[in-house]
Amino acid sequence: MKFGGNAVASVERIRHVARDIVAKHTALESIASTDGGSLNQIVVVVSAIKGVTDDLIQVCDSIMMGERSKVDSIIHNIEEKHKSIASNLCSNESYTRELSSIIDALIKEMSDLLKGMMLLNEVTPRSRDYMLSFGERLMAPMLCYALKDIGVKAEHLAGKDAGIVTDSNYGDARPLMDTTRLRIRHRIMPMLEQGIVPVVTGFIGSDQHGNITTLGRGGSDYTATIIASCIDADEITLWTDVDGLMTADPKMVKDAQVLREVSYAEAMEMALFGAKYLHPRALEPVLDKGIPIRIRNVFNPECQGTTILKNPTAYPSKIVKAVTAIRNVSLIDVRGSSMVGSPGTAGRIFNVLGENRINIIMISQGPSESSISMVVRKSDLDKAVNALELNLLGRLIKGINVTDDAAIIAVVGAGMRGTKGVAARVFSAIAKQGINVIMIAQGSSELNLAFVVEDRYAEDAVKALHDEFELDKINR
Ligand code: ASP
Ligand code: MG
Repeated sequence: MKFGGNAVASVERIRHVARDIVAKHTALESIASTDGGSLNQIVVVVSAIKGVTDDLIQVCDSIMMGERSKVDSIIHNIEEKHKSIASNLCSNESYTRELSSIIDALIKEMSDLLKGMMLLNEVTPRSRDYMLSFGERLMAPMLCYALKDIGVKAEHLAGKDAGIVTDSNYGDARPLMDTTRLRIRHRIMPMLEQGIVPVVTGFIGSDQHGNITTLGRGGSDYTATIIASCIDADEITLWTDVDGLMTADPKMVKDAQVLREVSYAEAMEMALFGAKYLHPRALEPVLDKGIPIRIRNVFNPECQGTTILKNPTAYPSKIVKAVTAIRNVSLIDVRGSSMVGSPGTAGRIFNVLGENRINIIMISQGPSESSISMVVRKSDLDKAVNALELNLLGRLIKGINVTDDAAIIAVVGAGMRGTKGVAARVFSAIAKQGINVIMIAQGSSELNLAFVVEDRYAEDAVKALHDEFELDKINR
C-alpha cells in the first residue's frame, strides 16, 4: 500500500490511514486466518506530506540564488510542521518521545546539509537529491509510530535500508533490479514473516556508493511497484485523494466516471495524457508478473477505485475509455523547401531542441515533407523558438509559425485497435462544435488518437468526445 502526500498531511489523516486502512486490512484477514486463511501482510510506502517536496525544491533553487531569508523561512515551516505532528500523533508518551527524537535528528541532519550547501552557494544533482529525500524520510517514521500507537507492529525504513539500489542518475534514478530484488527480499521478507509492517519511504533509493538518489517526481508510486515486484506481492494499492482513473477530468466534465478496470497499456497512455496519478515508469516493474494495481481514495474507502491489470474484462465493447486534455502547450510549425527530400532534417531539428533540454510532446509531418509540427510545453516555447532561430533559421528552415495557447486532446482505449471509423467519429464530433483541428497524430499502437486545438476549445472538445462515446454511461 502506497499513501500519497495528501493522505498523510495532518495528524488526523495519518491516524486515519493507520487505523482505518492499514490496521483494518491486516485485521480483516487475521479474522479469516482463524479459519485457515493466511494473515494479510502489508508493506507500506509513503510520500512526503503534500507540498513538502515542492518546498525542498524551492529551497535548492533559493540556495543557488543566494536567497538566505527565503531558505530559512521555508525550512522553518517544514521543521514546525513535522515537529508539531510528531508531538501530537501518539497517545503513548514514550512513543511520542522516541518519534520526536527521530524527527529532531533528521532535522539536525537537514540543517547541517543546508549549512554546507549555503556555504558553497552550490546545489549539485547529488546534494539536491539528498535535500529532497528529507520529505519522505521525515514522513515514514511518523506513519510508523501512528501504527505502533494502535498496536500494530511496524518499522520504518529509508529506501536505501529497504534495499532499493539505483544508478547514479540523480533526479531520475532507475533501480538496478537484480541487486534490489536480492536486498529487498533479504530485508523485507523476514519482517513480514514476523508480522511487522515495514513502512518504507517512497521516492528515494541510493546508488552503489551509498549516495541518496530520487526516482523522479511522483516516484513513490514507482517505489511501491519496485518493492511489489521484488517480493511477488499479490496486489498493489496506490491510496490517493481521488476515486481512481476517470473517463475525463471531472473539473471539465461533470458526469465523468471512475473506470473500474483498465489495462496496463491504457493506464500508461492515460498517465502520459494527463491522468496524473502515475509515475511514467511505475508500471514497468509489474508488467511481466501481471501484479494488479488498484488506485483508491483514502477519503472514500468505500469506492473500489480503478484496477489496472493485464487483461481487464470490464467494458468489453467499449472502444474509447477516456478523453484527456493536456493544457498549457504550444505548437511550433517549421517550414522550408530545403526540408523536402533531405535526410537528417528531422534529426537536426530535434537535436537542437534536445540539446536545449526541451521536451517534445507530439510530432507530425505530412508526406510533402515541407513542414514539421511539434508540440512543447508553453514554458519551453521561448527557449525552443530561440534555439531554432539561432541554429537553423535561414538555412534548413525558412519560417517558424507558433500557436501559443494550444491543447492536446487525446482519446484513449485499447478497443480502438483495428476498429474502423473511430477517427471519423472523433473528428465529426469535433467539427459539429465548430472547432478547428490544427494537428493530428496517432501512433501505430492505436491505443490513442491525439490532436491539437486552440486552448479555448479544449473543454468543449473533451465534452463533445465524452458525449460521442457515451462515457457518462460506461458503468451502467
Ligand atoms: N514526494 C515526491 C514528489 O512530490 C514523490 C511522490 O510524492 O510520489 O514528487
Ligand atoms: Mg505525490
